[in-house]
Amino acid sequence: MSEKPKLAMYWGAACGGCEISVLNIHEHILTVDEIFDIAFFPCIADFKVHHVESYDDGYIDVCLFNGAIRNSENEEMAHLLRKKSKVLVAFGSCAYEGCIPALSNLTSKEATFNTVYGENASLDNPDGIVPLTEVDVAEGTLTLPEFYHTVKSLDQVVDVDYYLPGCPPESHQIWAVLQVVVAGLLEGAPLPPAGSVVGVTNVAVCEECDRVKNEKNIEKFYRPYQIIPDPEQCLLEQGIVCMGLATNGGCGALCPQVGMGCRGCYGPLPGVEDQGAKMLSAVASVIGAGEVGMEEAELEEKIQAVVDTIADPAGTFYRFSMAHSMLQRAKVNGSNGKGEA
Ligand code: SF4
Repeated sequence: MSEKPKLAMYWGAACGGCEISVLNIHEHILTVDEIFDIAFFPCIADFKVHHVESYDDGYIDVCLFNGAIRNSENEEMAHLLRKKSKVLVAFGSCAYEGCIPALSNLTSKEATFNTVYGENASLDNPDGIVPLTEVDVAEGTLTLPEFYHTVKSLDQVVDVDYYLPGCPPESHQIWAVLQVVVAGLLEGAPLPPAGSVVGVTNVAVCEECDRVKNEKNIEKFYRPYQIIPDPEQCLLEQGIVCMGLATNGGCGALCPQVGMGCRGCYGPLPGVEDQGAKMLSAVASVIGAGEVGMEEAELEEKIQAVVDTIADPAGTFYRFSMAHSMLQRAKVNGSNGKGEA
C-alpha cells in the first residue's frame, strides 16, 4: 500500500444505513478515495479479518465503527480495530448509544430468540431450532458468535476517540468531520479534544426547526397516523411527541420539517446524561391537565389519562439511547443483566 492515510469502516449490529450515508457524500467520495487508502471496509471491498490482524498496531489512521455490540464477534472486532487504529470513531447512533438494537435490552435474550425463531408468523420452525455457538457436523465443528443478553455501545467495550451521532449521520456532517480529520492528519491542524461528539451543533434540534413555537399545553398525544398536523405549528404543541427539545442539533431538523416528530437520533445535548429522562421531564412540564384547586387524586387521574396516550414510552423516549442511558437495560426475571454478557 502507499503512504496515504488509512481508512477503515466496520459494521457491527446495525442496519447498513451508516455505510450508505458515507457513500452518499456525493462527489466528495472521490476526494475520500484520493486522500485515503481503504484498509478495511467489508461493505464495499473484499477485506478479511486476517488482513486487519496482519497490520501493525495503529496502522489504520481513522476507523469509523458503526453498529452496536450485539454479539461476541462485534466485541472481538471492536478490540481488534481499537488496537489497529490511531483514531476510533463511534459512527452513528448504534455505536454511540445502542440505537434500535438496544431496544432489545427491554427484554431478555431468550424472549428475543423466541420472537425471531419461535413465534414469528412467517417462520416454519416446528422443532424450535435456535442458533448455537457450536454444532458438530460430519465435516467438523461449525461455530457462530455468541448472542449477548445485553446490547452495548462501542465505548462500553473499548475506548473511543470521537462520537458522530445520527441514524444515520447526515452526509454534510460526515464530510465536515472527514475534512477536520484529514486536515489533522495531513496538515497537522488541531483535532477536536478526545471524547468529543462531532458533527453536531450542540444546541437543541428545536433551534434548527422553523416551526412556530408557542405555549405548550398538551391534553392528548397522537401517533403520527392519527393526526394531520398543522404545517406551521410546533409538532409537540399539537400532541405529536417530538424529541427536538432533548436532542442535539446537526441534522437540520429534517424530521419535523416533514411533519414527523424528531426521534432523537442525534443523542443528548451536552451535559445531559440521560436523553430519555430529559425528554420525560420536558413532557411532564407541558401536560395540560387539571385546574387550580383540583383535588390531588382527581388531578393525578387526569394527568395519568394524558400520559396513557403516549404509546410505548420506553421505546419512544429511549429509542436510540437505551444502551447508553442510566437504565442501560430493563430488569428481567429479577436480574438487570448488567453483569451478564
Ligand atoms: Fe422543537 Fe419538534 Fe417543536 Fe420543532 S416541532 S420546535 S423540533 S419540539
